[in-house]
Amino acid sequence: MPSRSLSITILGAGPAGLRIASRLLRRRDLELDLTIVEKHHSPGGIAASFQEEGIWLDYGSHRLHPATPRDILDDIEELIAPSLLKRKRNGRIRLQGRYLKFPLQPLDCLLRLPPSFIAGILQDILKKPFRPAKTAESFADLLLQGLGPTICRNFYFPYARKLWGCPPDEIDMEQARKRVSGSSISKIIHKMSAFLPGFRKPNTGIFYYPEQGIGQISAALAEEVIAQGGKILYNTELTAIQTNKAAVSSISMKTENGTTRELESSFIFSTIPISRTVSLLSLAETDPATVAAKTLHSRSMIFFYLLMNCDQWQPVDAHYFPEKEYLFSRISEGKNYNGTTSPAGKTIICCEIPCMENDALWRADDEQLKTRVLEDLQKAGIPAGNLLRVFSRRKTNVYPVYRIGYPKQLKIIEERLSRTEGLVSLGRQGLFTHDNIHHSMMMADRAARCLTEKGEWDRKLWEQYCEEFAGYVVED
Ligand SMILES: Cc1cc2nc3c(=O)[nH]c(=O)nc-3n(C[C@H](O)[C@H](O)[C@H](O)COP(=O)(O)OP(=O)(O)OC[C@H]3O[C@@H](n4cnc5c(N)ncnc54)[C@H](O)[C@@H]3O)c2cc1C
Repeated sequence: MPSRSLSITILGAGPAGLRIASRLLRRRDLELDLTIVEKHHSPGGIAASFQEEGIWLDYGSHRLHPATPRDILDDIEELIAPSLLKRKRNGRIRLQGRYLKFPLQPLDCLLRLPPSFIAGILQDILKKPFRPAKTAESFADLLLQGLGPTICRNFYFPYARKLWGCPPDEIDMEQARKRVSGSSISKIIHKMSAFLPGFRKPNTGIFYYPEQGIGQISAALAEEVIAQGGKILYNTELTAIQTNKAAVSSISMKTENGTTRELESSFIFSTIPISRTVSLLSLAETDPATVAAKTLHSRSMIFFYLLMNCDQWQPVDAHYFPEKEYLFSRISEGKNYNGTTSPAGKTIICCEIPCMENDALWRADDEQLKTRVLEDLQKAGIPAGNLLRVFSRRKTNVYPVYRIGYPKQLKIIEERLSRTEGLVSLGRQGLFTHDNIHHSMMMADRAARCLTEKGEWDRKLWEQYCEEFAGYVVED
């Protein structure tokens, strides 16, 4: 029997916020008054989709990785049945003027990498035992130790500068641990061996993808939340979190029509950027958490779309560009993700351009970006023929930037938030972490388990889960 009605507010309608809402609403032992507050006009967060010219588009390349736990995959399958497709990956990466299959495959690397590059890697392997041992502090230290200079200088270091906007020796080594699954030669060989006959695992080289873009998952979750009695307030911006005796009591928000509203809350699950959550608490400017929050930075991204007058631009789904001579870090072609051939005679590609909010790139207009992008496509040997028009979308907080020393600042914030009873920060933004969709959903599932049937928060269990989250590594 439900013990008492709990007023729960969830901040953010991305995969984490929607999933925790659906998990909590499915529980029969809790009576809930649950509201999601989302500043955007639709669900999905960074993993949302939209339609243009009859083509489903994502904010950059998004796919459901086969590492997604079975229970989450089953739920998604059931939620959007029969739309979840199992697709074969067909990506490539541009290195030293050549294209290699991505994920990397052994024979392809041997045949296509310049011999000087292979010789460099072999030399690095032979020299490894003689390199002076140094305690790794930075992204650069850790990867140089594990991979040697050839792969670092030609691939990871320029890629790190492009994605995170700072030199690799100023990036904390945690970034390498979370973002680089092939952080040593042996790990790379292990990953590549999965493509060799005899070593092939059942799901190697595949991904899952909904027919209507990755955002179909969140759209279906949002429908489920409403059907179960939850509310979602779109176009609504949080302005404050109020507390009473160190426990959350209510939130203030600015609604779509500009009015301010208060909502009583005994629990807040926040999936919005953790530094924003700190500022919503209206702490003193000198409070250590306020000071620490100002040191956390995230990258933004321009998603630059090109509509072309052809059925298909390239047969490849994602093209990766780690080298600095290209403005974009990755290009994806929407129709190649769900494999559709319609609409005929039209395709749209998305170029991901990492930047900082309000820097020169962010402020560049579509005509300026078009000139740069078209030049770079030409340089890469894949010109955009039959171009009909371009358009762009911009998102902030796409990648957390782990500058050396950030873990200390993050700890100060987490410690301060944990002293506010009823406030839990989770998800990609809420934990300032790099993650996959399935990681954000796993965090949500675990958070839902930590709310006891008495409506109390099991802090000990949550701390155990947080240790598990720290071990998540992004799957590319
Ligand atoms: C370019 C790119 C490619 C990616 N590709 C993949 C992939 O292929 N596979 C994969 O598994 N993962 C991928 N990811 C990661 C994936 O996007 C995230 O794991 C997922 O979106 C995280 O979900 P979330 O709910 O934790 O956060 P988010 O998706 O960031 O959702 C947070 C929500 O909070 C809302 N919000 C923020 N501030 C406020 C506020 N003040 N008030 C109200 N609402 C607010 C936002 O609008 C958003 O809806 C990719 C990420 C990026 C950036």
